[in-house]
Amino acid sequence: METRSEQLYEAAKKHIPGGVNSPVRAFGAVGRTPRFIASARGDRIIDVDGNEMIDYICSWGPGILGHAHPRVIQKVQEACEDGLTYGAPTEKEVQLAEQIARLVPGMEVSRLVSSGTEAVMSAVRVARGYTKRDKIIKFKGCYHGHSDGLLVKAGSAALTTSVPDSAGVPEDYTKNTLVAQYNDTTSVEELFAANKGEIAAVIVEPVAANMGVVLPDKGFLKFLREITERFGSLLIFDEVITGFRLSLGGAQEYYGITPDLTTLGKIVGGGMPIGAYGGRKEIMEMVSPLGPVYQAGTLSGNPIATTAGIETLTILEEDPGIYKRLEQKAARIAETVNEAAGGIVCVNQIGSLLSIFFTERAVTDYESAADSHTGKYAEYFGFLLDAGIYVAPSQFEAMFLSEAHTEEDISYTCQKMREYFQDFNS
Ligand SMILES: *Cc1c(COP(=O)(O)O)cnc(C)c1O
Repeated sequence: METRSEQLYEAAKKHIPGGVNSPVRAFGAVGRTPRFIASARGDRIIDVDGNEMIDYICSWGPGILGHAHPRVIQKVQEACEDGLTYGAPTEKEVQLAEQIARLVPGMEVSRLVSSGTEAVMSAVRVARGYTKRDKIIKFKGCYHGHSDGLLVKAGSAALTTSVPDSAGVPEDYTKNTLVAQYNDTTSVEELFAANKGEIAAVIVEPVAANMGVVLPDKGFLKFLREITERFGSLLIFDEVITGFRLSLGGAQEYYGITPDLTTLGKIVGGGMPIGAYGGRKEIMEMVSPLGPVYQAGTLSGNPIATTAGIETLTILEEDPGIYKRLEQKAARIAETVNEAAGGIVCVNQIGSLLSIFFTERAVTDYESAADSHTGKYAEYFGFLLDAGIYVAPSQFEAMFLSEAHTEEDISYTCQKMREYFQDFNS
């Protein structure tokens, strides 16, 4: 008997490339049929066959409060009554911009867009307009959305499917994108030395989370802050994942390093499509209509999306204990796996983000991440899925914890992981 998910997947493949609207959802790297989701509440996600799973994907990050938080849903429903979009300014955009400025140290002035991809693309344009330079440095394994110039040694699905560069991107578009090695200061110094006066910006995920979770070495972000200042380049933190997740002020608050420009996505929309980019006033004044850098969007600052974002951030602000609780839950899983499988896997964890790499090496950059055994990950994924635990269908994605994850569900997850690694060991 075919499951409803299998039927839908067959139907989807007829009219949607690969049956999905974003590649990692196809479960290609783990050899399973994607689960089609019917609903989600709290830390549970329910598929069209009625399978209820504990969700550690959380929509790849936005779901820090869990699914369908009653306060967020209530506000969104109320907002819908007033119309879905106007293409004109609203009070809520002012409110969200003020909230972002209050919480994120480097975002005095910001602009809303509709996705993380758009936020990063726009921030890079501003950096180039401001510095009047063309080249940027990015890091191997960091993902910054799917805009042409940034699809160079990207992470995420581009890493899983071993397509480091995308077809359809002219070489001309990426020739100004230089690639350094994450956590390798020398690789950055060399690029600056070889491109004097030409680097507009260094863009980095302050905690890399799209090659699996890879933490910055002590001093690495400080080094980036210093070298960009020394050469008159801007430092861009892509905090699409880390924003409001590592702390209310993101990785920049967590590490005490303020970038010139910051990009947000995921949590800032509270489950609706929002991205944001921002920085110091004098830099952001480059943006149209004040300055010469053009950027626009029909649905930018959408009233429903801003409502979801504001309410989510408000709930986070009201409850500062949330970050400690999130960290404790993730740490509990990390400790369990380390006890059960230390030595045969590498667990990287920070705050509510973690990755279990099927490698015996320490994972500190793209090469050490890519060294992981993806076949073993696929097996582990299948075991958990069958046990009702929904983790990323790829070795190179993070596991996300939310406020909604209950102690019981974490205990059950730890128990199943212990079981898995016991068999794995013997
Ligand atoms: C998800 C992500 C993006 C892209 O955001 P979309 O909303 O998927 O376009 C960019 N940068 C990072 C670090 C991300 O994790």
